[in-house]
Amino acid sequence: MSRFPGFRMDGRWIRSMRGEKVPVDPFLPYGWFNERERTLSGDVKEVSAILLTNRECPYSCLMCDLWKHTTSETVPVGAIPSQIKYALEKLSPATSLKLFNSGSFFDPGAIPVEDYPQIASLLAGFENVLVESHTAFIGEEALEFSRMLNGRLQVAIGLESVHPEVLPRLNKGMTLDGFKKAVGFLQTNRISARAFILLRPPFLSEEEGVEWACKSIDFAFSCGVDICSVIPVRSGNGALDRLADEGFFQEPSIQSLERVIAYGIGLQKGLVFADLWDLERFSGCKHCFESRKERLNQINLTQEHMKPVECSY
Ligand code: SF4
Ligand SMILES: [Zn+2]
Repeated sequence: MSRFPGFRMDGRWIRSMRGEKVPVDPFLPYGWFNERERTLSGDVKEVSAILLTNRECPYSCLMCDLWKHTTSETVPVGAIPSQIKYALEKLSPATSLKLFNSGSFFDPGAIPVEDYPQIASLLAGFENVLVESHTAFIGEEALEFSRMLNGRLQVAIGLESVHPEVLPRLNKGMTLDGFKKAVGFLQTNRISARAFILLRPPFLSEEEGVEWACKSIDFAFSCGVDICSVIPVRSGNGALDRLADEGFFQEPSIQSLERVIAYGIGLQKGLVFADLWDLERFSGCKHCFESRKERLNQINLTQEHMKPVECSY
């Protein structure tokens, strides 16, 4: 069997595989929570995260399920500041804030540029602010927003995978050179960069998934990112379910995530985090799952190796 399917997996096909969106209110965020995270200065701080409701990302990546909580049209000016205000009133105090918008914060069709001053003033109390963006939107808007903030801006970019045959098939519309240039641009302007790295995207075996996630971490640090966040790929967006049915995709195991994180923190080139969201689905064993999750959580916070979890089941 070939590594890749015979049919075209372009944006049209990827979108045709999708199910229904979840109804959303443009004046309400679709999620908010606090978590603890290690910072670049080495201490562990309380971080607030807000999941903003806004227009669907114009890219249609093969593995993306973020479209589920988006609108079809750009939200009205004022809606994003209202969402942030609403969430901040509910969240307990934190020193850092993450604004996730299921796409690119600097996409003017997602977050209206007219809202930047009000957003920045709502964020005045935070030391660090993280937003996410595709490389194509990293430019003047990022600088403008960064200048308005009291705290330091960090931009998270999906590097996904440096595998030369897999990255183009993710339909991300991004090259490694584009990633490198975007990180260089941010660095020049004293904006921090974080990379999202996929663990076992489609078309890779479990072993290759580990190998290419490690290579992707190497590349991200060589470009100058401060943090790598490793995300195990999950099905559920339609396209990946279809690829799984046809034998081109399988979700990775929690043990593979453990291996990649051990590699990443061993480099000591920056912080490396395991994404713990929805982690249970990657565990085949109910006896050791909680211990494995807690161990990864501790590694995230300390960035130090820990004794592996042993399980006799
Ligand atoms: S660029 Fe990001 S948000 Fe947009 S489709 Fe790709 S993974 Fe999803
Ligand atoms: Zn077990």
